[in-house]
Amino acid sequence: MKVAIFVLGLVLLFVGLLGAAYGWLAASSLETAHAFTCSPSGPPEPYPGWCASLLSSASSYRTLAFGMVAIFVIGVVLSVAGAVMQEVPSAPAMMVPPPVPPPGALQACKNCGRSMPSTDRFCPSCGTPQW
Ligand SMILES: [Zn+2]
Repeated sequence: MKVAIFVLGLVLLFVGLLGAAYGWLAASSLETAHAFTCSPSGPPEPYPGWCASLLSSASSYRTLAFGMVAIFVIGVVLSVAGAVMQEVPSAPAMMVPPPVPPPGALQACKNCGRSMPSTDRFCPSCGTPQW
């Protein structure tokens, strides 16, 4: 989950950054083209409405660039959140019960060391009383 958010954030970050750069450059070049070809002293418009469409395209790209900046910001927030977020453990350590000795706990015989139930008084191997 944490990694997914982080990766998604990175993807949005890069997409937003590239998209914003692309939109900004496209808008700037269109505006440059408009300034160059639509000046009163410049060459006439290639076709009627050329200058108006240049301006409207430039403003569309500018809007796209701002939208991409928003996506970039969302990507930054998501990736930072994913990076600092505490991984939620699937099985919290507090919920694990401490090991409980089984009912028939074993002990080692005082005499021969054979392991035997602690409830048995006499060793099944050598017969030594344990208590
Ligand atoms: Zn024994």
